Amino acid sequence: MTAFANPAKHDSSGKRIIVAIDGPAGAGKSTIARQLARRFGLLNLETGAMYRAFALKALRRDVALDDAAALEQLSTETDIRLEAGEAENRVLLDDEDVTGQIRNPVVTDAASRVSVFPSIRAWMVRLQQQMGADGGVVMEGRDIGTVVFPHAEVKIFLDAAPEVRGMRRFDQMGPAPAVQAEEVIRDLRARDERDRNRADSPLKPSPDAVLLDSTDMTLEQVVKAAEAIVESRLQPAVAR
Ligand code: C5P
Repeated sequence: MTAFANPAKHDSSGKRIIVAIDGPAGAGKSTIARQLARRFGLLNLETGAMYRAFALKALRRDVALDDAAALEQLSTETDIRLEAGEAENRVLLDDEDVTGQIRNPVVTDAASRVSVFPSIRAWMVRLQQQMGADGGVVMEGRDIGTVVFPHAEVKIFLDAAPEVRGMRRFDQMGPAPAVQAEEVIRDLRARDERDRNRADSPLKPSPDAVLLDSTDMTLEQVVKAAEAIVESRLQPAVAR
């Protein structure tokens, strides 16, 4: 995975900044990350998409999602790349564009299962560190501020009540969703449980992260608050 060149904002030392956004499913991380990327000229990298792409491969190959050794072996034969785009990342799995195949409920559940294994996490973290090595990125996930970039210039932990997150996900499903709202909330809670309680890199705010609870906020308010957090860490951009 190669790093990217881009005209991103710099901090006071002239280094291109890293913005880490962590939080549970449905907290609005992707939307906020996208807005921040646009506003501050950063590349937006969604690490969840990488776990999803790997889960898709495991499903396709019929690898048991609880077989750590088989998953580790599979990871050695897998190439995953993210390409930053305007709206969302393009996700390449062994050079195949799988962007449109990783958001369904089966892959979503599988991603949450494969992501508990330390060898899979270590591999992903390595890739993510390479991707952000030159800075100039907003990276979102579960462990960015704690593990991937513990020295990120800006760390935001975005949260909201589970019912609110579930309803937001449900509302995004369009006019005739195939599932009930209760089901969406239940699945989201199950994923949260797994993410928060896994032994390796559980989902939790880094001690130096700014906590943003969007339960009672509109999207515009959250975007404003997140922009203000980044602004407060930035000096005027310095040409390199
Ligand atoms: O963010 P998204 O919902 O796309 O992530 C899919 C799954 O990947 C999550 O449920 C989580 O278990 C896992 N994940 C992770 N660490 C990350 C990003 C995602 O464990 N940095």
